[in-house]
Amino acid sequence: ERLNNDFQFVDVGRRDPAKKELSARKEEFVEIYEPMGQRQAAEQSHRCLDCGNPYCEWKCPVHNYIPNWLKLVSEGNILEAVELSHQTNSLPEVCGRVCPQDRLCEGACTLNDDFGAVTIGNTEKYITDTAFAMGWKPDLTNVTKTDKRVAVIGAGPAGLGCADVLIRNGVTPVVFDKYPEVGGLLTFGIPEFKLEKTVMSKRRELFTEMGVEFRLNTEVGKDIEFQSIIDEFDAVFLAMGTYTNMKGGFDGEDLDGVYDALPFLISNVNHNQGWEKDPSEFIDMKGKKVVVLGGGDTAMDCNRTSIRQQAKSVTCAYRRDEANMPGSVREVGNAKEEGVQFLFNRQPVEIVGDGKVEGVKLVTTKLGEPDENGRRRPEVIEGSEEVLEADIVLVAFGFQPSPAPWFENFGIKLNDWKGVIAPEQQTYKFQTSNEKIFAGGDMVRGSDLVVTAIYEGRQAAEGIMDYLDV
Ligand code: FAD
Ligand code: SF4
Repeated sequence: ERLNNDFQFVDVGRRDPAKKELSARKEEFVEIYEPMGQRQAAEQSHRCLDCGNPYCEWKCPVHNYIPNWLKLVSEGNILEAVELSHQTNSLPEVCGRVCPQDRLCEGACTLNDDFGAVTIGNTEKYITDTAFAMGWKPDLTNVTKTDKRVAVIGAGPAGLGCADVLIRNGVTPVVFDKYPEVGGLLTFGIPEFKLEKTVMSKRRELFTEMGVEFRLNTEVGKDIEFQSIIDEFDAVFLAMGTYTNMKGGFDGEDLDGVYDALPFLISNVNHNQGWEKDPSEFIDMKGKKVVVLGGGDTAMDCNRTSIRQQAKSVTCAYRRDEANMPGSVREVGNAKEEGVQFLFNRQPVEIVGDGKVEGVKLVTTKLGEPDENGRRRPEVIEGSEEVLEADIVLVAFGFQPSPAPWFENFGIKLNDWKGVIAPEQQTYKFQTSNEKIFAGGDMVRGSDLVVTAIYEGRQAAEGIMDYLDV
């Protein structure tokens, strides 16, 4: 009777799924949120006002039909909801887990300011997880197969988004990746406490059943030449991400005990999953004083991985204030709960030590005038130097593009920051300067989000199909 209540949003507050006990969270590499039950999902979905002009839908980069699937969930109609959610998103269970909803769909929810936004992300996850548990699979029986084949280089969210749209339209994608599992940074980057690895292996099985062919453990340019790929396929989609670690440019970055964020996170995943080639690859924080430099998602993942590895202390230094952190508000909150100490308005100027790290020299900053991106520039306060003791420093300053040496031979042009030029707004969306080659995701837009990579992969598939005239 409650679900007929038009004022559900007043009577029933926003309720996020419960989190696991903190003591377990500090040790375990498993997702921290408990699943939503059917009743909670229906109650929470029914809070949606079904706004005539749903801002959530516009703010969601893939433009999910959010109010429509919320209504279906409130009615208990999971099978229709899951079909609808897959019309716009290739990995809804992943986005539900890792999107920064506070900046996207939920930030735009009409209820956000006064009543608490609808739990959109968790409902999206609930729909797919529940449908999978019911044995649901994408149904491609009505698809008419064409004779076209497209090579996709990179099995991250951009590559998978592209492959999904292609196979649903009768074009056969063959996805190459140098790693042994699909997912890109979803598997070899984002830790298990945000996204368990079984989520991607399940997707690999489903995509394989749908007819997507994966050639894993295959690095293009090393294990197979790009020339042979471009000769064999009707078109190519590049979805190779951005992998050059940004440096601080100060003294001490090459001392023993200083690590880039991604190799640390990957070594942890490989260790946990039994994918290590050699046990010496594991970077162990047990008993160490760890300092993490940076304020984005990567920094939060380093913080929380170090906590779980039983570091003695974990301190995160960021050069702006908390309100200006680029990371998801939810994940910063989770990091604080788990025991990470934050030092805001602190900029590293040197890593000190004698052969080996002993500390990080920090200066205090205040926010000054906006820079070219409109973000206020941190300004150093004179005489504020201090040294923070550290055994290990993890540098999480972000990523720059890593264009392959062979791009040039195939006329793939780069912009001034070395991103591949492949605009959305042109006759064939996301086509590069070589007409047969398309590109999308982080390698085109610079390091960004899972959901924007999925969007670009899906749109590029449309561009490729227009180009192939299918
Ligand atoms: P990637 O995911 O990087 O995938 C590229 C793939 O291409 C890789 O699998 C790589 O092996 C493959 N490849 C590259 N070169 C070759 C080659 N020559 N041959 C074969 N294969 C190749 N975003 C969020 O939305 N939420 C988060 O919480 C979040 N957390 C993050 C945490 C970390 C630690 C990091 C690093 C990023 C995070 N991001 C997050 C960002 C997000 O993961 C990326 O924006 C997204 O994965 C980009 O997708 P992509 O498909 O463009 O590239
Ligand atoms: Fe929100 Fe991301 Fe889902 Fe879009 S894909 S509805 S932004 S959680």
